[in-house]
Amino acid sequence: MKIKILGCSGGMGANQHTTCIRIDEHTLIDAGTGLGSLTQSELAQIKRIFLTHAHLDHICFLPLLIDNLFDKLKDPIEVYALPEVIDTLKQHMFNWSIWPDFTALPDKQNPVLRFITVTPWQSIHTETLTLTPFPSDHVVPTCGYRVEKKDCPIFVFTSDTTLSPEVISNLNRLGTINTLMVECAMPDNMETLAKLSKHLTPGMLQTLLADMDQKPEHIWISHLKPSYTRQIIDELQHRLQGQDLVVLSCGQQFELS
Ligand SMILES: [Zn+2]
Ligand SMILES: [Zn+2]
Repeated sequence: MKIKILGCSGGMGANQHTTCIRIDEHTLIDAGTGLGSLTQSELAQIKRIFLTHAHLDHICFLPLLIDNLFDKLKDPIEVYALPEVIDTLKQHMFNWSIWPDFTALPDKQNPVLRFITVTPWQSIHTETLTLTPFPSDHVVPTCGYRVEKKDCPIFVFTSDTTLSPEVISNLNRLGTINTLMVECAMPDNMETLAKLSKHLTPGMLQTLLADMDQKPEHIWISHLKPSYTRQIIDELQHRLQGQDLVVLSCGQQFELS
């Protein structure tokens, strides 16, 4: 399984792009500004996008992608998401005011965009991948995804989440996790804000990992606020000593096999 981290930043700036992960050639998780780093031919390979939630940093390049591919698509781009996320996108984005309703273009029978509702714990099978959504705990309805491929290690992405008993229980329910990609948006001294905005600090992440029944082999960290990156990394290195930790950067590629 090839994973390219197109975007993993909690903000913007030079070389800082927001959440977008490409799994092999045809599948994306989220459509943040990282999506803009693909070439035209790579963009044309995208068949489906699994959204975690409707926050702007995770969806902002979705409308541009559909527009970009409009006259090249033989089949609609499939967008998988929780029902609440689909409702939000229909109401606030593909509403003819912010952007055209591409579920009705070029016509309703053969649209270029198709929304597909996901239900937590019900797996979706693509040609080679199996994705299983599970609830995270964020300020809006949010799910993470477990990604499986035959003979490959298991990859889990929590998306934006805070620390709660439900999140720990959901991660435990997933069973073996080889690589856990999890956010750590804010430094320890911003824990009050992290709790209000339902994100994680290094201290909260340390507790989350300690409470998991089976420890992930590898931990990938994303969504750091650019102004606090150095501080968060220092705190993570201190708190998660001895664990296999990667603080992700945009453009990084991995082959999980
Ligand atoms: Zn969010
Ligand atoms: Zn976010």
